[in-house]
Amino acid sequence: MDLSIAGKWALVCGSSRGLGLGCATALAHEGVNVVMVARGAEALAQAAQQLRDAPARPGGAQVVPVAADITTPHGRDAVFAVHGDYDILVNNAGGPPPGDFRDWDRDAWLASIDANMLTPIELMKRTVDGMAARGFGRVINITSSAVKAPIDILGLSNGARSGLTGFVAGLARSRALVQANVTINNMLPGGFDTGRLRATVEKAGRNFDEEAAIRLAAVPANRFGTPQEFGALCAFLCSAQAGYITGQNVLIDGGAYPGTQ
Ligand code: NAP
Repeated sequence: MDLSIAGKWALVCGSSRGLGLGCATALAHEGVNVVMVARGAEALAQAAQQLRDAPARPGGAQVVPVAADITTPHGRDAVFAVHGDYDILVNNAGGPPPGDFRDWDRDAWLASIDANMLTPIELMKRTVDGMAARGFGRVINITSSAVKAPIDILGLSNGARSGLTGFVAGLARSRALVQANVTINNMLPGGFDTGRLRATVEKAGRNFDEEAAIRLAAVPANRFGTPQEFGALCAFLCSAQAGYITGQNVLIDGGAYPGTQ
């Protein structure tokens, strides 16, 4: 299926590895010009090269790495200095650390809200009106299945992402945006075998295989998802064909969430 987005420009945040890299790869495969952002310059440059070397990039789409912290005004200015008019925006950054809410002070909360709520809102503020003026725009916010089924130790994430989810529910239904073919959707990953999952388990001093078995007991698919699967869904939601899908919280979790809505 031709997604009809070749030649568009995408800003994909947090894309040197994991789910963001999955999205950048799938979009580049469709011939989308991709600006990739992460803080670590070396890993980002390698990821960008990997995309350039991949076969089947129609139209010689460009891949531009920008090493920056997207949660800072300076970092955001850096990505808009490279390209001004994005047609596709994928909001993503690292998730807040787990812990006990009794240990979190105001600064911990502000850092989480900054990274997982205010940064995506800032980036939408800088892009959606231009998208509307050009008659095409797709915004994807990578949040978490924890938005629907909060996890006790992820209070910082639950709180900040719920704020973003509430905001998006309103903005995505702005008649001016939807009628100008600008859609905004959230993708809610369940368990994906990315570096983050392994690092979190190993940092807690636990064995990955044992931990994986416990987690997979709650996943009907009995496996973790792959960044490729995540990227493919992202690319579809960014496609020309997906213009009637907006304001949705799309779970991709192997059937783990047990509810009907
Ligand atoms: P990951 O493998 O750790 O990748 C995170 C990416 O974001 C890296 O490229 C990282 O590069 C970049 N990044 C982090 N902070 C950044 C910042 N301030 N500015 C720019 N880039 C930044 O994580 P992931 O597993 O793909 O997860 C992506 C998101 O989905 C996270 O918010 C996570 O909480 C959420 N999520 C993941 C899962 C899962 O199972 N994997 C489940 C639910 C929710 P640098 O560190 O070099 O900046």
